[in-house]
Amino acid sequence: MKILVINCGSSSLKYQLIDMTDESVLAKGLCERIGIEGSKLTHQPAGKDKFVVEKAMPDHKVAIGLVLEALQDPEHGVVKSTDEIAAVGHRVLHAGTKYCESIVVNDDVKKVIRECFDLGPLHNPANLMGIEACEAVMPGKANVAVWDTAFGMSMPEKAYLYAIPHEYYEKYSIRRYGFHGTSHMFVSGEAIKFGELDSENAKVIVCHLGNGASISASIGGKCVDTSMGLTPLEGLIMGTRSGDVDPAVCQFICNKEGIDINEMLNILNKKSGVLGMSGGVSSDFRDIEKAKEEGNHLADVALQAFVYRVAKYIGAYTAAMNGVDAIAFTAGVGENDKNTRKSVCDYLGYLGVKIDDEANNVRGERRVISAADSKVKVMLIPTNEELAIARETLRLTK
Ligand code: ADP
Repeated sequence: MKILVINCGSSSLKYQLIDMTDESVLAKGLCERIGIEGSKLTHQPAGKDKFVVEKAMPDHKVAIGLVLEALQDPEHGVVKSTDEIAAVGHRVLHAGTKYCESIVVNDDVKKVIRECFDLGPLHNPANLMGIEACEAVMPGKANVAVWDTAFGMSMPEKAYLYAIPHEYYEKYSIRRYGFHGTSHMFVSGEAIKFGELDSENAKVIVCHLGNGASISASIGGKCVDTSMGLTPLEGLIMGTRSGDVDPAVCQFICNKEGIDINEMLNILNKKSGVLGMSGGVSSDFRDIEKAKEEGNHLADVALQAFVYRVAKYIGAYTAAMNGVDAIAFTAGVGENDKNTRKSVCDYLGYLGVKIDDEANNVRGERRVISAADSKVKVMLIPTNEELAIARETLRLTK
């Protein structure tokens, strides 16, 4: 059974075709500049050369059409016909409070995606375009929506409600949702399997540390808390996002600089994080590390603050769960940067965490990196959101 996984942005479309018999990737690719001049599709079939198509893509429907052509191409393709594709799984950002599980798309599901445009203004419209494009190009084929917010829906009220007047939750569904949900679901599930933990009761903290960064606490794979909030701005320090900030900072800066709240939020989302803290060095953690090694004090402080915030959240989540059995690192920084993993764990001696430096000397490979006598299992688990979406799609359509 082959599942096509689609992740649509406003001008981009990423895809993977996965053979679910062995979960291998048959082909993957990216359409860029959809609706803009100079559109391009880069198609990478497994074990064959990369193949680039430069053709106009005025909309996502044309882009999907070109993806299907590439997948069936006599030379670069991997299937003879789209009949071989059993179903399509879509990453969809926001389901508001309506859905807490993946679901086969029907008119009600599309209505919910549309109703949540306000909550996910950059992603939900693009995600809906992707679904409608697939419906147009492959009529009758099942589409499954896998929500980035689903994992966070199992949080209890005490974790998801903000301490603001309750009427705003009732009127506008203002609450903490959490994002990177598909990654947290996948990595916490894999950590339980790989770490041979109790599937019902294991207390797991997942640190998804990339350009966007978030952390989750889950018991038996069910989320009890996660660091992102109504939007991905809350929580950890990220590449360009501030994470937690006293909201009064916004009023103060707006008044002093004569800017409005929209511009302020743009600063918190795009110009803050390690980029802002380092005095503008970069949002890329490799550049920040290089600057630190060259003696840049602000880059050093930015990295220290990033690690410190992760360690504080781990402490908070350990308290929230009254313990922790495993901590898993994932995403760009979590999978590739042994120094960050080590620095975070250096804060956790009080939990009996002990890192095995040799085991930690690894990149992008699933592995236990704690010492045999560590009280908490620490793991590196590469995330794979596409595979998680494909598994959900298979589960709902087979
Ligand atoms: P996102 O999906 O949020 O864009 P990723 O999970 O791809 O982010 O992570 C990207 C980040 O990972 C970049 O900031 C990059 O610098 C960082 N990264 C990748 N490799 C390394 C490394 N070896 N050391 C430190 N950081 C790394």
